[in-house]
Amino acid sequence: MKFNSENLKIAVQKKGRLAEPSRQILKSIGLDFEHYEGRLFSPCRNFPLDILFLRDDDIPEYVQDGVTDLGIVGLNVVQEKAAQVVELDPLGFGTCTLSIAVPRNSSFRSVYDLENKRIATSYPRVLKRFLEMKKIKARIIEISGSVEITPSLDVADAICDLVSTGSTLQINELEPIEIVLKSEAFLIANPQSLKEPKRRELTERLRVRLQGNLRARRSKYVMMNAPNEALEEIRKILPGMKSPTVMPLAEKDMVAIHSVVPEEVFWDVMEKLRKTGASDILVVPIEKMVTE
Ligand code: ATP
Ligand code: ZN
Repeated sequence: MKFNSENLKIAVQKKGRLAEPSRQILKSIGLDFEHYEGRLFSPCRNFPLDILFLRDDDIPEYVQDGVTDLGIVGLNVVQEKAAQVVELDPLGFGTCTLSIAVPRNSSFRSVYDLENKRIATSYPRVLKRFLEMKKIKARIIEISGSVEITPSLDVADAICDLVSTGSTLQINELEPIEIVLKSEAFLIANPQSLKEPKRRELTERLRVRLQGNLRARRSKYVMMNAPNEALEEIRKILPGMKSPTVMPLAEKDMVAIHSVVPEEVFWDVMEKLRKTGASDILVVPIEKMVTE
């Protein structure tokens, strides 16, 4: 296995929450590479790209220093490391919030109640910036793991930690009172690498594929039958990305309509469509979507 310096390089998490979805997204854009436990480096067979598997905390720095051109890592880590990297695209997984939480039985109701209190966190830099912005003076206690148990040990009065479902907080009888940062996995890049034409071109090719994948995940393909006279109304309901495909049906005065509907307005659109007399509505997932 040789490290090819001509190839673009991307760093992804080796083991942890982002590891599998990161490999998954790279596979879903057609990259063919091997992966097994303990492997640190994999070249792609069908794209000039080498994949490095690293600890997520090291990724922003590796990208900043140009060890790799690109990285996939949580925005929370990028911000905490304050690395000089370009945040290219959110990738729609690893979503969580960095939140301040307090013991459920405490009298703290808002962050302003934490004046002069102790807040334990693994994100001292992001928390410090947040508290300064809110003009709150609190003591930040830096802890590298298991932050959630610090209030019960009386090491801290509150915590600032990552939350996704909230179940860890619940188990520890904590409740979130403030969001410090909304995070998800991001594609990040080394700024110099983006200035080199060849590396930039390869990066853009990957980004186009990633965008196609993201857009597809966020949309559904909808097919339905409707009476001819409902067509105008249906056109208005279908959100405007592109005019729908309309085909006549063997049955007189009936048409088949196909369209792409974004996930976030999906149910709203469905309910409205049914009222127009649309029937036999079929909804299918979209695998890839490349427009423009
Ligand atoms: P590593 O060994 O690579 O340092 P880690 O233990 O720091 O791993 P993970 O717990 O695997 O990291 O989390 C990686 C990223 O997953 C986080 O930085 C964050 O962006 C995202 N994430 C999403 N939901 C959560 C959550 N509930 N708790 C922690 N991280 C989450
Ligand atoms: Zn980590």
